[in-house]
Amino acid sequence: MEKPTVVVIGAGIGGIATAARLAQHGCKVTVVEKCEQAGGRCSRLLKDGHHFDTGPTMLLMPELFSNTFADLGENMEERLDLRRIDPTYHIHFDDGSSLALTSSLTAMQTQLESIEPGSFGGFLRYLNEGHLNYKLSLTHIVRRDFRNPLEFFSPHNLLLFLRLKALRKHYDNIGNYFHDHRLKTAFTFQDMYVGLSPYEAPAIYSLLQYTELADGVWFPMGGMYRVIEVLMDIAEKWDVRFIYNTPVERINVDGRKVTGVTLADDRRIHADIIVANADLPYVYRNLLPDNGEADRLERKKYTCSTLMFYWGVDKQYPQLGTNNLFMGGDNRQSFDRIFKDLTLPDNPSFYLHAPVRVDPSLAPKGHDSLTAVVPVGHIGGVPPQDWGTIQKRARQTVLQRLAKIGASDLDEHIKFEVSFTPHDWKSRYNLVKGSTHGLSHNLMQMGYLRPRNQHLRYRNLYFVGASTHPGNGLPTVLVSARLAAERILQETGVLKTVPL
Ligand SMILES: Cc1cc2nc3c(=O)[nH]c(=O)nc-3n(C[C@H](O)[C@H](O)[C@H](O)COP(=O)(O)OP(=O)(O)OC[C@H]3O[C@@H](n4cnc5c(N)ncnc54)[C@H](O)[C@@H]3O)c2cc1C
Repeated sequence: MEKPTVVVIGAGIGGIATAARLAQHGCKVTVVEKCEQAGGRCSRLLKDGHHFDTGPTMLLMPELFSNTFADLGENMEERLDLRRIDPTYHIHFDDGSSLALTSSLTAMQTQLESIEPGSFGGFLRYLNEGHLNYKLSLTHIVRRDFRNPLEFFSPHNLLLFLRLKALRKHYDNIGNYFHDHRLKTAFTFQDMYVGLSPYEAPAIYSLLQYTELADGVWFPMGGMYRVIEVLMDIAEKWDVRFIYNTPVERINVDGRKVTGVTLADDRRIHADIIVANADLPYVYRNLLPDNGEADRLERKKYTCSTLMFYWGVDKQYPQLGTNNLFMGGDNRQSFDRIFKDLTLPDNPSFYLHAPVRVDPSLAPKGHDSLTAVVPVGHIGGVPPQDWGTIQKRARQTVLQRLAKIGASDLDEHIKFEVSFTPHDWKSRYNLVKGSTHGLSHNLMQMGYLRPRNQHLRYRNLYFVGASTHPGNGLPTVLVSARLAAERILQETGVLKTVPL
């Protein structure tokens, strides 16, 4: 039987992993990418001997990466030199106190008890709940390919949702474990990884704190971009062809089928199968004939965006760890400013990545490569946000907070700066509303309720990536690649049986 030809639109981690999986089974795969390099949100910026990962900085849930490598006949440990980051973060609170989250229970006990006597017991109970949520949601929601509503809304799953406290807000639930607002913040802010406010996110997301501390926060030597490079290498070994600097302009349709793509330069590529890795709401709005779906998607909830500052610095600051969090003031108000007012909080929180502590090769000797990530609302404020002014205020906040921990001369030592606003995320990667994590992961946009991995009308068009099922974050997108590839291989008859 002739194996299908496949065009993948976009060389994000989802597109590359799907391409490799299909090519491994004999499909003839071409990946068409609009940018000059692969990686999408997980790209790399190189300047004057400094290396910056443009998006992800933490490799979480290593088990899901390892599964992808194993499925592709490779061993992750042989291909990536992963280092565990411990403490996972250094958290600096607004009142000058701090907390280093670590897998050392003794160190956690000392720190937690000094903040809130008796809280170590709450911490252990919280981890226990996170463990349960992680295992149950991975098995019954994340890894499952829901093909009809009955599979998702089965009596078993409805009971599961109650068990996972799916209807309880994460920030309300944390009150069962801690009373001190700093601890409540320290064990819920991780919801921002999936672009959610803990005041809106379901309590299920305690799975994030569990997996960080139990399975670890990791960093590949050479930077997060190594993950992309290695996956590309594997894909190329299976003869996947990558084309760069080539935006797809349109997906061509004929009746109930897609037939290929038209590129920005008017060239056409025919394909039996199309996999869209570009942000799903963008695909509906820009690449497919209008059927009303793009408007429906527009009304859905979107995750936040981020302001990014990539700084090449001619000095190192020993007071910084690899991952640093600086918490702003009023937690509730801050999240409301981001998610409701779509702007920058009055006293913003931010994350600072300083990877040279784990991999000195990422900057010239004695220098530093620092990335500040400041969460903000996505594009769409009324009146439209003035990103120039917002960006200036965010930069000032970051420098002022860093001055408080002794980096008061940082501004003088910044050799160069590259910055992103939500408009850069939008124009560079076609992310709708500049929303860095795509469609939100609230309860109404999870599982079967999230856009699925196959188009309902054009059955040979598949979707992979952050705004599809199961959701965003590198490990989750790798699961989406597996689900999409398995569907394709099964439906084209290349694979007769599909492992569940
Ligand atoms: C600031 C930030 C920090 C993050 N931190 C982490 C982290 O620490 N850990 C973690 O696990 N995850 C993190 N994430 C999330 C993670 O980066 C994403 O979930 C993941 O990279 C999404 O991959 P994807 O394949 O779905 O999409 P993308 O990476 O967006 O890839 C889609 C690709 O499609 C291309 N494309 C778009 N339109 C077209 C077109 N018309 N023609 C051709 N190509 C097109 C784009 O250029 C892009 O390369 C972070 C994200 C951001 C933004």
